[in-house]
Amino acid sequence: MSRSFEDARSLILDNISRLPAETVPLLESLGRALAVDIKAPFDLPRFDNSAMDGFAVRSEDCQRPSVTLQVSGYIPAGGRAEPAVESGCAVRIMTGAPIPPGCDAVVPFEETEERASEVVIGGPVKRCDHIRFKGEDIREQELAMSSGCRLRPAEINMLASFGHSELSVHRRAKVAILSTGDELVELGHPLSTEVIVNSNSWSLAAAVRELGAEPVMLGIAKDNHASLREKLSAGLQYDALITSAGVSAGDRDFVREILTELEVKQLFWKVDIKPGRPTAFGVKGVTPVFSLPGNPVSSMITFDQFVRPALLKMMGHSQTDKPLFKATLKEAIKKKAGRVQFMRVVVSNENGELFISSSGDQNTAIVCTMLRANGLAILPAERDYFAAGERVPVQFI
Ligand code: AMP
Ligand code: MG
Repeated sequence: MSRSFEDARSLILDNISRLPAETVPLLESLGRALAVDIKAPFDLPRFDNSAMDGFAVRSEDCQRPSVTLQVSGYIPAGGRAEPAVESGCAVRIMTGAPIPPGCDAVVPFEETEERASEVVIGGPVKRCDHIRFKGEDIREQELAMSSGCRLRPAEINMLASFGHSELSVHRRAKVAILSTGDELVELGHPLSTEVIVNSNSWSLAAAVRELGAEPVMLGIAKDNHASLREKLSAGLQYDALITSAGVSAGDRDFVREILTELEVKQLFWKVDIKPGRPTAFGVKGVTPVFSLPGNPVSSMITFDQFVRPALLKMMGHSQTDKPLFKATLKEAIKKKAGRVQFMRVVVSNENGELFISSSGDQNTAIVCTMLRANGLAILPAERDYFAAGERVPVQFI
């Protein structure tokens, strides 16, 4: 039985469990999913401080168009907020330095005139001007980041401010990659005209690594029971197994048969999509097995649509879907109704509006149009014609 695209995706996600957490040094957490909620352990900023290089003043002193104040002190960044500033006085202050008691505004240098131990200030000065207040970024005990959030440089910045030199994140998935086919040779093998280099293992490994998971290359299984049995059982020892080819209707397409023998429960083996119809998915215990088609383009697209969200979920990410944009078709498209079609497209931005046009030949054996594409248009199954000027969903690749 063939599955709809949406059913196949939810069936996969429903069968993925999250990997356990581990503690890693702060920088190692980049790109990974947080395994705990993080609350602010204190207010940020921790104290009222100056947002400018200038003079800290008492705003009540500076309500006339021009006032002259006595410069009574200097506070560099990292300095102490002492002593309290008396009426009629101002303190030279640098960005980030603590505001001394008595002051409630900072006047930037550009708006002042310094004369020996005095400064002339043009008023009126508003209370609170150019001060960053304690807790205005985040308050003590406020939720800063939720479990499942992907750690980017911004998150790492705040975690460092909170004093986290190490962090609890979900483990990286170790993902076995196995190509199958008697025609395949490994990269490095002398290249005669009859052979096909196993390029899929490389694109799949690259895609796995791009997600922050660890690819484990299992090489090539021949199209026979013994070879497949050996390699597939080895692959089942990892967090996930991805195979390419050998799942269509060819007379040597044994992958599914051997997976069943190895007690992998098959959940589907055909999806109403193009390309990528002969995509199969199964599980053995908590180990998911993705059997992708052999055509390089099909294997890349089915990885993107099925394996990517699954591995992200496994590695604890709460955001598993790529954002979907609407883009306007530059030319009309015909397709057969009944399957979701992934079209390799060039997305361009013209005056703020997204446009798409085909990146060329959509045959699945053509890899060049994948190289030329920066997006995949996702054309709904039920439709068979899209007019130029229509807006259709697209994802960046
Ligand atoms: P199959 O799914 O076995 O019918 O393979 C479909 C097409 O993809 C055939 O032309 C294969 O030669 C090609 N193919 C299969 N596996 C790979 C691979 N690992 N690397 C590159 N091409 C492949
Ligand atoms: Mg084959």
